[in-house]
Amino acid sequence: MCEGETEGDYLGLLEEKFGKEMRFHINPYTRAEGFKPLDAVERAIEERKRLYRTDRENVWVMIDRDEHVDIERAVVLARKNKIKVAFSHPSFDLWLWLHFAPGRPTGQGGNSSYLVSKLQGVTGFEGYAPKRDKRLLAPVRRDALSAGISQAIKLARKLDADCENGLCGPDRVAADGRHEPHHESCPILKRDPSTGVYVMLESLGFTTA
Ligand SMILES: [Zn+2]
Repeated sequence: MCEGETEGDYLGLLEEKFGKEMRFHINPYTRAEGFKPLDAVERAIEERKRLYRTDRENVWVMIDRDEHVDIERAVVLARKNKIKVAFSHPSFDLWLWLHFAPGRPTGQGGNSSYLVSKLQGVTGFEGYAPKRDKRLLAPVRRDALSAGISQAIKLARKLDADCENGLCGPDRVAADGRHEPHHESCPILKRDPSTGVYVMLESLGFTTA
C-alpha cells in the first residue's frame, strides 16, 4: 500500500528486476490521486484480511512526511493492526536520492525540494519534478535505481545509526520482534532525514553487499 505512483513504480521495478531471482512477489496497491497516510493504513487493514495467513505478516504501507498531518495516528493504527510502515522523512525522494548520493545527506528542515534538485542531476532524472514527471517507468531510471539499491540501504542504515535519539539504530528489534530501527521515544516527525524503506527491502532479502 503506497501513497503515490512513484512508490508504486519503484515496487514494480523491484519485482521486475529481482522478484524471480530472489523469490518474492510484491502486489503494489496505489491509485493515481494518491493516499493520505491514514487512508493508506485503513485500506491496508482491509486488504490484509483478504490475504492468506502466511502473507499477512508482510503487509506494508509506504508513507512520507510531505505535508501530511495524520502520520502519528496512521503509525499507531498500523502497529495495532500488524501493518508494517516504511516511513520516509521528508519524502520518498530521499530514498530515491540515496541510490545516487555521494554520502550521507543532512536534514534540510523537512524540505524535500533539495532532494528533487539533487535527483535532477542524475542521468535520466533531468525532468524529474513533482506534479510533472515523477514516474519511474523509463528503463534509464529503472536501471540506475537497480544498480544503486545496496548503496541506498547502506546510507539509510547510516542515517538511522546517526539518529539523535540514543536508543535508535539500524539493527534495533522492538519488544514484539519487529525490526524497528527507531525507539518509541523517538518522535517520528523529527526523524529528518531518514527512511525506513530499507527495512522493507531487507525483509525481501536485499543486503548492502
Ligand atoms: Zn530515532
